[in-house]
Amino acid sequence: MDISKYKIEHNSNFKLSDIETDQTGKFDSKDEAERQLAQNVQRMEELQSKLYAQDKYALLIIFQAMDTAGKDGAIKHVMSGLNPQGTHVHSFKQPSAEELDHDYLWRAVKNLPERGTIGIFNRSYYEDVLVVRVHDLVKTQQIPKEFITDDIWKDRFRQIRDFERYLYENGIITLKFFLHISKDEQKKRLLERIDDRIKNWKFSTADIHEREYWNDYQRCYQETIAETSTKQAPWYVIPSDKKWFARLMVSEVIVKTLELLRLEYPFVSKEQEKILNECRQNLLNEE
Ligand code: AMP
Ligand code: MG
Repeated sequence: MDISKYKIEHNSNFKLSDIETDQTGKFDSKDEAERQLAQNVQRMEELQSKLYAQDKYALLIIFQAMDTAGKDGAIKHVMSGLNPQGTHVHSFKQPSAEELDHDYLWRAVKNLPERGTIGIFNRSYYEDVLVVRVHDLVKTQQIPKEFITDDIWKDRFRQIRDFERYLYENGIITLKFFLHISKDEQKKRLLERIDDRIKNWKFSTADIHEREYWNDYQRCYQETIAETSTKQAPWYVIPSDKKWFARLMVSEVIVKTLELLRLEYPFVSKEQEKILNECRQNLLNEE
């Protein structure tokens, strides 16, 4: 499968509106896609096991999207085969008073994955160039006035690029997914959350309010993605009107990324081998 089609180049002039949200690549139906997803999930499990044993790299997977786009579902399905011991999911909500008293990357840094593990961010520090920008929340933060200039978003894009490069050069690989849905698809999903009693708990009137800012969000996402997609920490824009296609694509990108790391179980030295043999002998000699 060609994942490069969904990868955004740094500073490219891509238009979010040019990317069809309902495309499903070469798949006509969800059956084949689900079969391949199951294979990828298995492959991810093997790769994760090596990642953990090797204890050198960490993988940070960021999910961003408009409400109802399927972040929670993607995390649940794609990660279903992973060992919980080597995986950590963190959701970014409205910042607490303590979080607001720090720089905006602080709460992300506190939740970065350890070496050998996979960290998943359900939303992330990208909210600080998205919701914060759309609703002009910077003014409500404690940042000294001289730093709140017209260039603040450009500055933040640079800070984020630098931060992700720092992570990369320390063995933490960042992958970023934007789950791209159409406004119509969101309407359909919001209506389902209202009409289906089992889905009522997922409905939030805040989502209806945010929907009014749809175009602003799309503009901010487009600029953010173009500015912060880098070789070290690429953005993938995943057509997500069809959940099964989005989940397959996400799994595909994760598998391909882990494969590029050429993970192997750590090599046992001659000395360690000697110790293993001694231990075996001792065990076998037990009464
Ligand atoms: P949910 O993901 O549905 O649980 O909602 C979390 C909410 O927190 C979303 O509306 C986000 O936009 C909001 N949020 C996350 N990070 C920030 C932030 N840095 N500033 C303001 N709101 C945020
Ligand atoms: Mg929500």
